[in-house]
Formats: sequence, structure tokens, C-alpha cells
Amino acid sequence: MTANNQRTEAVYIHIPFCTNKCFYCDFNSYVLKDQPVMDYLRALDKEMELTVQANPPGRIKSIFVGGGTPTVLKPNEMEYFLQSVKRHFPEWSDRIEFSMEANPGTTDLEKLSVMREGGVNRISFGVQAFQNSLLTGIGRIHDTDDVYRSLENARAAGFDNMSIDLMFGLPNQTLDMLAESVDKALELGLPHYSIYSLKVEENTLFHTMYQRNQLPLPDEEDELNMYLLLMERMKAAGYKQYEISNFAKPGFESRHNMTYWRNEDYYGLGAGAHGYVGRQRHVNIKGVNPYNEAANQGLPRLESFEVSREEAMEDFLMVGLRVLDGVSRSRFRQQFGTSMEEVFAGPLNKMVGAGLLDSTDDGYKLSSKGILFGNDVFAEFIGSLSAN
Ligand code: SF4
Repeated sequence: MTANNQRTEAVYIHIPFCTNKCFYCDFNSYVLKDQPVMDYLRALDKEMELTVQANPPGRIKSIFVGGGTPTVLKPNEMEYFLQSVKRHFPEWSDRIEFSMEANPGTTDLEKLSVMREGGVNRISFGVQAFQNSLLTGIGRIHDTDDVYRSLENARAAGFDNMSIDLMFGLPNQTLDMLAESVDKALELGLPHYSIYSLKVEENTLFHTMYQRNQLPLPDEEDELNMYLLLMERMKAAGYKQYEISNFAKPGFESRHNMTYWRNEDYYGLGAGAHGYVGRQRHVNIKGVNPYNEAANQGLPRLESFEVSREEAMEDFLMVGLRVLDGVSRSRFRQQFGTSMEEVFAGPLNKMVGAGLLDSTDDGYKLSSKGILFGNDVFAEFIGSLSAN
């Protein structure tokens, strides 16, 4: 149950396999070759069964299948997986948002049709850039032809709700290249786009290259100019920036991601998945074989811990402010029985004073300057209560 005594209504399912490892990727994903995929799907089936037994769901409103690359599953594996989801969350229908991440290099019409017939109604394609040289340079397996072919196949399979991810701040990426990628993405006329900046994470090839001074990244000013450019182009094309990295036509905001940003409960299923149910967070066992073994014996947890009231309040601000409409004073009071200003007087005043937050009728939101320096704002709230 949530803090509001609601049952869980969102489901995240992790498929941890990829054809290859991208150079920047620190997600829990493993190169597909020789992996026990069917064993994994059976273990997932078991985890779903145990999860809904332990915490029965409410009226499910979103399912998100991420990875890894869910579309590396073969059509028969995909069919098995989607039937398994349907068995454990039988209420779903086209009224819910059922998203799946897809790699343009691993989809064809047959697989996309299996996905659509199996209930998936939203696809998020990892496109990243429209220059093959950049794609090769970050270790992606697809090229731009794959992007066009995948989208055409997805439309033929019956998908109209699609999103693509782009990246900026890539090695050797110029402002003009980013502009070209954004324009080509917009030409596709999709209802949703996510545009992320590259983060060099530890335990990635890029991190090693960075430490050896071998990663030609744009400098901070270039990266800021890239962000300004993409925001301007998205706005000019009629998309609302509803979150730091997300742009949508009205009604196409990602319902599932809003669950995270509103700090609501979600099941997290699969190897390395995180979940949040009834103020308990958990992280699942990461490796595929250890996960498979554990899921056959019980819930495959690596760790579970209770989120304190203080941490829940910090999270409310920290993740809630990512949404550009901001955080609601009345929702905070409803959830925690106290006033946001009383609890966070220091950080709120500091951020408003610095021109990074604006007050709204019912709370606070990032100012136009705050959107550019969101991480500085979020950092103000981390540990501001729980570290005391
Ligand atoms: S496809 Fe996605 S999950 Fe897989 S290696 Fe690349 S970035 Fe990571």
C-alpha cells in the first residue's frame, strides 16, 4: 500500500539482455549470447506470481518493460513473456499504458506484431542520434536506416503511440549534429520525445576512456547550448516540456514515469530491478543466474529497506521538481500531514533566492534558470532531513 493507502498501480519489468554493451551503459544488462533466456522468463513469471500474492495490485494503470533490450527476445519468447504478464496482471487492456523499450536494431514486423497483439501499446525506441558515425562511436548496434525501418514496421504493426530517445553531449557531437538529430526526430511526427545528456558512469568503457583523456566530450558551455537549442526546437514544434528531459504532445506524457516523479508505488520485477511498495524499497539480485535461482525459491531480493518519513519527504521534492509543473503544496500536506515550507524552509528559500525555483499557486517549480541547473536544485534536498 502507498502512503495514501492506495494499492500499487504501476509495474516495471526488467529484461537484462542486449546484443552488445554500449560504451556508456551502466544499466544491469548482459550480452545476450548464451544467456538462459527462457529460464529467466520463467523466473520472472514466478516473481510476478509471488509479488501479487504478497501485495495484491490495485487497478493497474501502467506497465513498463525496460532493460537491457526487451526486443532482443525472439517472437516465441516475447509471446510467452507477454502471456505471463497478462496472467498476473489480468486487468490490463488498452486503457492502460503498456510501454516497451525497443532497440531499432532488434525489431522486425513479426516481433512488433507479437508485441502489439500481446497488449503493448507504446514503444520507446532508443535512437540516440541520426549520424551513423556518432552511433558507432557510442557502441550502438543500429544505424539510421534501422530507425526508419523500425518505425515503419511499428506503424504497420498498429503502434501509434511512440517515443524516441535522443542523447546530447556525446563524444564528437557538435551543436549542428544535435540540431540535425532533433530536426530529423521531429520530422517523424511522434507524440513523445526524451532527450538525455550523456553521463559518464563508472564501470563503463567511456569511464576508462575519460580517465585516459581519450573521450572528446563537448565542454560545459557547448552542452548548455545543446540543451537550450533542443528545448527551443521542441517548443517551436509544439511539444510541451513536461519534465527536464521529456517532451510530449498533450495527453502523451509518460504515465509510467509520472509514477516515479510523483513518488508513487510501483512493482519492480526482474534482475536488478528496483521497486517501491508501501514505503518499502527493494533492489533485486542483479546477475541472471543468481536471480533465476532466487526467484524459484522466493522473492529474489538483494536488499529491502523501509524509506523513512524524512527520506520520503526529500524524495517528494527531489523527484517531484523534475516535473516542470512543479510540486504541490496540498499534495505534500495530504501525504505527510505537514507543510512543505515548515519542513524545507532552508533549501526552498535558498533556491528561490538564487532564482532557481519559482513559487506557484500551490507550491514550487523550477524557474527557467532552474531548468538548466536542475541537478543543483535537487542536490539541495538530498539528505537535508535524513542526514541529520
Ligand atoms: S541497448 Fe541500452 S541497456 Fe543495452 S547496452 Fe545499450 S544502453 Fe545499455
